[in-house]
Amino acid sequence: MPRVFNFSPGPATLPEAVLRQAAEEMLDWHGSGMSVMEMSHRGKEFIAIHAEAEAMLRELMGIPSNYKVLFMQGGAIGENAIVPLNLIGRTGTADYVVTGDWSKKSVKEAKNYGKVNTAATGEASKFTAIPKQSEWKLDPQAAYVHICSNETIGGVEYHWTPDTGSVPLVADMSSNILSRPIDVSRYGLIYAGAQKNMGPSGVTVVIVRDDLLGHALPITPSAFNYQLQAENDSMYNTPPTYAIYIAGLVYRHVKANGGLAAMEEHNRAKARILYDYLDASSFYRNPVAKEDRSLMNVPFKLKDDSLDEAFLKGAQARGMIQLKGHRSVGGMRASIYNAMPIEGVKALVAYMQEFEKQHG
Ligand code: PMP
Repeated sequence: MPRVFNFSPGPATLPEAVLRQAAEEMLDWHGSGMSVMEMSHRGKEFIAIHAEAEAMLRELMGIPSNYKVLFMQGGAIGENAIVPLNLIGRTGTADYVVTGDWSKKSVKEAKNYGKVNTAATGEASKFTAIPKQSEWKLDPQAAYVHICSNETIGGVEYHWTPDTGSVPLVADMSSNILSRPIDVSRYGLIYAGAQKNMGPSGVTVVIVRDDLLGHALPITPSAFNYQLQAENDSMYNTPPTYAIYIAGLVYRHVKANGGLAAMEEHNRAKARILYDYLDASSFYRNPVAKEDRSLMNVPFKLKDDSLDEAFLKGAQARGMIQLKGHRSVGGMRASIYNAMPIEGVKALVAYMQEFEKQHG
């Protein structure tokens, strides 16, 4: 069976070269006589794997030395609680910008730990646009401002970095981390689940500025205390070792393929092919404001949703899977992360044309 073009929003397609390397190293990692899965997290082999993954991520993203990199468990939904547990205590209040389902979830969770102010919301546009910063009502007393840099379900993405002055900016980058270069120094904290652009599910990357450590609420579970994890090189508890290993292989692969500038070029080229086609067609429609369209997740609807099933079936028959939109919005969604080759997007558009001709 040839590999499919997998448009899943996550866990998502991974670079084939990484999977092959993992397969080769499965039973015997570098002559150690064991699989990475079987290694002690405190042994020299895994410590080297962990250190390389961190060093590679630091290099790729240009992470300044006053930031800690943590590899944690709990996923991004876990971080929706872990962030306020660690950060909100400084002033007791935080600002959230709501741009879709994921940031809505973040707000709901944060409310358990302090006062949450919705600084802006895209609700009026039905979350098809990111509210302009001039409309945000920021509280200078906020412990931080939280955004979701790419809404995986709605397909809206920030193509600019908010300016929050001296209030730290916190971003859920689960679905667009490593998709293009960013200036980490503009953020106080970045978190991301790995299962879109970095590896398998099970590991969450947290990049946090030093001065934000040490403010955890007393109720913070120790495994989720950033300071404790930073002091213990993310090994206060057993980290998700195999997921960290695969993430490290993905980082190395991204570097070998030109780093984040090359990823951006590749991602823009893919997204352009798809959006240009959607805009030219009267059969398909993407509702998102042009300047806020996601390069990673492209939701679209067919003219008549009674054709959805036939569309999905035909796609599957042509080796293209996971195109069904999120259950909350319906329609289709093509997730085209770093590891989706341009051939996958071209094949999708060719199929969309064929389907339109047949049913349009
Ligand atoms: N935030 C964003 C932007 C996401 O895309 C997702 C997962 N699709 C999550 C949070 C939740 O991640 P997890 O299920 O790993 O906790």
